[in-house]
Amino acid sequence: MTDLQLPTDLLPSDGRFGCGPSLVRKQQTEHIANSWQSIMGTSHRKPAVKDVVGRVREGLATFFELPDGYEILLANGGSTAFWDAASFGLIERRAQLAVFGEFGGKFAKAARAPWLEEPELREAPVGDAIECAPAEGIDVYAYPQNETSTGAMLPVRRVAAGGALTVVDATSAAGGTKVDLAETDVYYFAPQKNFGGDGGLWFAAVSPAAIERIERIAASDRYIPEFLSLKHAVDNSRKNQTLNTPAIASLLLLESQLEWLNASGGMDFAASRTNASSAIMYEWAEASSFATPFVSRPEIRSSVVATIDLDERVDAAKASAVLRENGILDTEPYRKLGRNQLRIACFTSIDPSDIERLTKAIDWVVERLA
Ligand SMILES: *Cc1c(COP(=O)(O)O)cnc(C)c1O
Repeated sequence: MTDLQLPTDLLPSDGRFGCGPSLVRKQQTEHIANSWQSIMGTSHRKPAVKDVVGRVREGLATFFELPDGYEILLANGGSTAFWDAASFGLIERRAQLAVFGEFGGKFAKAARAPWLEEPELREAPVGDAIECAPAEGIDVYAYPQNETSTGAMLPVRRVAAGGALTVVDATSAAGGTKVDLAETDVYYFAPQKNFGGDGGLWFAAVSPAAIERIERIAASDRYIPEFLSLKHAVDNSRKNQTLNTPAIASLLLLESQLEWLNASGGMDFAASRTNASSAIMYEWAEASSFATPFVSRPEIRSSVVATIDLDERVDAAKASAVLRENGILDTEPYRKLGRNQLRIACFTSIDPSDIERLTKAIDWVVERLA
């Protein structure tokens, strides 16, 4: 414990700056409370809950301006389950994966399955990023739009024409950035980042080509566990249900967030909030005597996750600890990155004026720790 108590005018209106689970808006939890008895604690096979799933799928379609023929899928298990599901049911023979941090690396591990050819990896050091590139014999190109562990971000674009699928991990980008889904075949995410939901589900916007691939592999003699079957996800999602019981509260949180986002201007609104917040963070760091953006190339700096290195005179862990004692939470860096760093979510729900206040709070703490 320290006795460093932040002046109240430096305290953000909400102290949650974590990259997932992330700030959940009060209106979202009120939506759960309002659904007490009518939806919470009722059967997921009956209309009340299935209608929530339907409204979430429609809300996502509206938000993403879903291209003709694309569908919204959902299933249990979060983005991590999606990696295994893709290895069983989306990669035909060989994937190419971009790896420049923890999450890209985890998909690459899942794609190293005995029934597939050794994946081709495009690797860049942490703090940098690398795009996929067309190559012979590749049927899935996969990359994270936003590498949450490092704060590096790539533009979303189709890698190759002619049958190979472009598969984008949008877990921490979806709901906070503008995207043209026609550039992708599978755009997947879990709801506990920009959408302010809770963990445990994955969602994907999928193209007709991706559906065709899923159907074809499912009809082959490849062994696919029921729980990880993308064919089941397609069939159940079309009926607004999941193979097994979903977290209904998480669906309600997402429904409420989509109502807010779509009523406020959709993707443009979301991107303008995250762009404003991240610009405040990076401009502050560049002007600071002790802080520097970790991602040195400005064009790949994330608009949703700002990673800020502190110089060695400042103990970032101590600064985070003091902030935490003052109710400013989850500013620590990704645990395995091991840097003297602060990582700040600039997600859509976070008010840019709170990011502004946070920079002043960091200045105040660092000055007193010196
Ligand atoms: C958080 C995150 C994941 C993991 O999501 P889970 O739902 O916990 O499996 C995967 N990819 C990215 C880019 C993430 O930010």
